[in-house]
Amino acid sequence: MEHRYKDPKELIGVEFEELGNTYKITGIGEITEEFMTLFTEKVKEEIINWNGKVLIDVGHGGTKTTSSGKKYRDYGAVNEKSKVDEFTWNHDFVMRYLIPELNASGIANKVVLRSTNITKLVTDLNKEAGKDDIILSFHLNSDIKASGTETLYWHTSEKGKKLAGLIQKGLVGVLGLPDRGIKIRRKPLDNADSLNQRGWTMFKDTKVPFVMLESFFITNDEDLKRGNEKKAELAKAVVSAIKEYIKG
Ligand SMILES: [Zn+2]
Repeated sequence: MEHRYKDPKELIGVEFEELGNTYKITGIGEITEEFMTLFTEKVKEEIINWNGKVLIDVGHGGTKTTSSGKKYRDYGAVNEKSKVDEFTWNHDFVMRYLIPELNASGIANKVVLRSTNITKLVTDLNKEAGKDDIILSFHLNSDIKASGTETLYWHTSEKGKKLAGLIQKGLVGVLGLPDRGIKIRRKPLDNADSLNQRGWTMFKDTKVPFVMLESFFITNDEDLKRGNEKKAELAKAVVSAIKEYIKG
């Protein structure tokens, strides 16, 4: 956002945000051709009036067993060139960017890591979930050629739809990748349809709004590059969307 001021004095009283805090310009100091010294004070942080918390599911990472009994860890989709996988990317994003941003905004949060399969994860999430909570599930899309951003919600959840819409808008605004829209998850119509509805029981069985972020295609080198460059901004966009959702 750009503001133009004729007189530097017009800046007095203007508020701006930096690292999750709001500052107010209280005075103008020295003005040279290149620089202007601003006096600022920290404005009281926005009080978040919310009884809920954000439960975070970092997609994948659980241990699975093959039909022959071999155990392996599921890291989700992988970028062939850089070998970055979905779980590792999201885990870094959540721990180093999202959680500090949530904390700075005073939004309670908790990461629920999966140990095994989805059924266990849903049980763990429901154990933690208070009635006002929301669950954000962080994934990345995979496809050979596709690019873009999508956000998913359970088809009958009005709250999920609202939250998904706010998050999708924020993600697209930051990444500037194709807007693939918000999408529903529902019960598959038949076996062939079940691939389109992957993970649908997570959406159905969690007792609070469950929204899944597929911010970009990790299999697409350009998408991944954009994601890597925008981690900090993405975290801010997700937190802004949550704040909007809380305001109602
Ligand atoms: Zn995934």
